[in-house]
Amino acid sequence: MNVVSISEAKLPAEPFVARHLIDGDWRQSADGSTFDRVSPSHGSVVTKAAKGGARDVDAAVSAARLAFDKGRWSRTSGKERATLLLKIADLIDRERERIAYWETLESGKPISQAMAEIEGASDIWRFAASLARTMHGESYNSLGSDMLGLVLKEPVGVVSIITPWNFPFLIASQKLPFALAAGCTAVIKPSEMTPATTVILGELCIEAGIPAGVVNIVLGYGDPVGTAMTADKRVDMVTFTGSTGVGKAIVKAAAGTLKKVSLELGGKNPQVIFPDADLESAVDAVVFGVYFNAGECCNSGSRIIVHEDIAEAFLKATVDLSRKVPFGDPLDPSTKVGAIITPDHQSKIDKYVRDAADAGATVHLGGEALTVPGLAGQFYQPTIVADVKSDMPIAREEVFGPVLSVLTFKTLDEAIDLVNDADYGLSAGVWSENVHTCLEFARRAHAGTVWTNTWMDGFAELPFGGVKESGQGRELGKYGLDEFLEAKTVTMRIGKTRAPWVA
Ligand code: NAD
Repeated sequence: MNVVSISEAKLPAEPFVARHLIDGDWRQSADGSTFDRVSPSHGSVVTKAAKGGARDVDAAVSAARLAFDKGRWSRTSGKERATLLLKIADLIDRERERIAYWETLESGKPISQAMAEIEGASDIWRFAASLARTMHGESYNSLGSDMLGLVLKEPVGVVSIITPWNFPFLIASQKLPFALAAGCTAVIKPSEMTPATTVILGELCIEAGIPAGVVNIVLGYGDPVGTAMTADKRVDMVTFTGSTGVGKAIVKAAAGTLKKVSLELGGKNPQVIFPDADLESAVDAVVFGVYFNAGECCNSGSRIIVHEDIAEAFLKATVDLSRKVPFGDPLDPSTKVGAIITPDHQSKIDKYVRDAADAGATVHLGGEALTVPGLAGQFYQPTIVADVKSDMPIAREEVFGPVLSVLTFKTLDEAIDLVNDADYGLSAGVWSENVHTCLEFARRAHAGTVWTNTWMDGFAELPFGGVKESGQGRELGKYGLDEFLEAKTVTMRIGKTRAPWVA
């Protein structure tokens, strides 16, 4: 196994101090409480954050509501909004190294990957700026000579944005710029594991000149912060990325006030490999798909369905390549796979592998914790489990670790049945040199995204989201803006042509 470790890790002299952003001010919690974040790779405290409660959420929602109702942002022109979003994109580029550093320390992801994510994030802010200027409604000039119909696109209002720990800055950037482009105001809650970079984003919004109350941040735990942000009557919409279980709880909580809910949830994403595929590319993409972000990725390609004629050779090539992937210290620029987010999560990953082995699956690689010399955090070995059956938890549930499950098939119909035999429907992939096979797969797979002969390429222009228990609504693309817009119908009579109802 390829293990990377640097002796004198560049740890911060002082932890990052994270406070709430409420109505343009940086504040401690109303009750003064705080919490610490321990780096999952280095084992030391890297962040001290304000620990929010109901009073902090109340203050943040009040500020967002007032800012929205006074039109501080919603009544600005698309040009003004775009100018600000572009300024924020430039500031993100300027602060890229700082953001990547804290993201790496809190999440355990490799610094080189964090740098790429921050670059991707500023690109999304620029794309959202283009939408702010070009969004428009519709007109119906076809309703008769005395009628004109207009469909105005208006911001939904106050939006609660709740994000997970696995891509803290990127996911905030898949939501906030679109909400702002639409004219909404926001209260954001990052995961309690990764508060720092959302706080930096708040600093950049303020520096760019976002009016007070338009972007607010409350730090803390799902309960009470996330729950209060979901239930508050003054919030018009919740956009959430996280686990399917919490997504369901949010739908229930939001039902009390019938607010709009947009959900990006989990996945158990299959890749089907046909015998006519470019196997070298497929093996590389499978290895990337399962180990990227240590497998702690909604899009993890953790379920491989390979044709039985090539299964043995494919498995061997995947094991061989897996051994070469550099796992280890996230602060080393050569590392490709870093730490696991918490010790509890590491135990959960390990249990999936052990249970699968007990149920008859074969562990071909890994299946154990990984020791990285000099580092106190938790790491898990690249792991490949074959002879997996579709009804095993390892084939159906998110393991959220560097663990690949391998299943086999004989016919295309059988492969499609295996792909669709899942509660999730986030993404799916097909590897074949035959375009007919790829298209048939793309049309029949139950997934929000299908990749053909590639894996996990993403673009600001293309919508992303899931079907079934992977979520509802879409992010990115013009659909990502639509989520934050309401349609208002204006029906206009031209001239005095209305026949009286009462004679
Ligand atoms: P999580 O559901 O545990 O937490 C996500 C966020 O919700 C955190 O900020 C958390 O504090 C908050 N939260 C927890 N309970 C809450 C409640 N009752 N009400 C409101 N907020 C609450 O998820 P996680 O462990 O942070 O992230 C991993 C999950 O996110 C995985 O399931 C992964 O697939 C999913 N994810 C999905 C996408 C996507 O785009 N589909 C992207 C990234 C992650």
